[in-house]
Amino acid sequence: MSDSAPVDIVIIGSGPAAWTAAVYAARANLKPVLFEGEPVGTEIPGGQLMLTTDIENYPGFPEGVSGPDLMDRMKAQAIRYETDVRSELVTSIDMSQHPFLISSSYSDPVRALSVVIATGAKAKWLGLPNEMRLAQHGGGVSACAVCDGALHFFRNKVLAVVGGGDTAMEEALYLTKYASEVVIIHRRDKFRASKVMADRVLGHPKVNVIWNTQVIDVVGDSEIEALVLENLDTREVSRLSVGGLFIAIGHEPNTKFLDGQLDLTPHGYIKVDPWRTSTSVPGVFAAGDVIDDYYRQAITSAGTGCMAALEAERWLAHHGIGESPILQTAEGPVAASPDQIEDPV
Ligand code: NAP
Repeated sequence: MSDSAPVDIVIIGSGPAAWTAAVYAARANLKPVLFEGEPVGTEIPGGQLMLTTDIENYPGFPEGVSGPDLMDRMKAQAIRYETDVRSELVTSIDMSQHPFLISSSYSDPVRALSVVIATGAKAKWLGLPNEMRLAQHGGGVSACAVCDGALHFFRNKVLAVVGGGDTAMEEALYLTKYASEVVIIHRRDKFRASKVMADRVLGHPKVNVIWNTQVIDVVGDSEIEALVLENLDTREVSRLSVGGLFIAIGHEPNTKFLDGQLDLTPHGYIKVDPWRTSTSVPGVFAAGDVIDDYYRQAITSAGTGCMAALEAERWLAHHGIGESPILQTAEGPVAASPDQIEDPV
């Protein structure tokens, strides 16, 4: 149990939403404590942008910026305004009491008057019988081409990518730098990815696509040798020799540590009020990819991080802690869909 005085705000996460929330909270004099996490397996502090090469669509960087560079800059900005950054994972939050009690890997629990959760999302796996065994022991299965693709292990081999979204396109293009051939395996006959990315992939001489097909297993003892494929039209099963498998089928939000204390959407993202970042527990706000299965961009994530810090600041001021220039808006929250607009009486 923590006996120390509660802090005004704890921010959990280290992607664009978390750092932006920290900058806003720190500049509002809330002295934020930010838990940035620590490396666990393929997950590293900094969120998914740490696994991205060039970001060309973040405003203010006309020449582009690398994901890690952008995160370093955001972190430096948060520290400049005296964010207290702690490099450990939050293991649990007790929301049944206020101040909330936040437990982390090494230090004593911290009590917080408000919390911003910006823990993002992580890569999904296919759930194949031999997938994890080969992924965990460097056997040639990965969920991140940008992290692993340049390894000597994958050089000049046929590499497979599973998925049809922008991530799969990005990973396939990245792998063309190292592979002899990149084969994309997609379960439908059309990519979900944006046209510009899909066209880039389809026009690349090193890329081939196997449509309407799923991977049903990976073959190999200590290293991947082949994939077992199933054509979803004919049900024909075949084998494809490969030197690596990169899975790029989307992400799942990091909410397990919440232990069911916040309402979630049917897809497991934290549920927030329409056009707000307030959650089902007053004083707890959420931002970034952990609330967003629609936009999922660095810029939208940063935007909701800003919203969460402003809402926390106003919520605290409303409860007599600190000051906020605006306690409430003149209008009610913007309705997200027509059925949320009340009928005029
Ligand atoms: P996504 O858009 O959800 O695409 C996931 C892909 O994986 C889909 O093609 C899906 O197939 C396939 N898939 C899902 N589960 C599967 C399974 N069990 N077996 C086989 N295939 C499976 O995810 P994403 O590509 O990670 O992109 C997420 C968001 O980030 C998107 O909004 C994207 O635009 C954005 N993004 C942008 C950039 C960029 O601008 N540079 C880069 C990366 C991501 P179906 O199509 O059949 O559903």
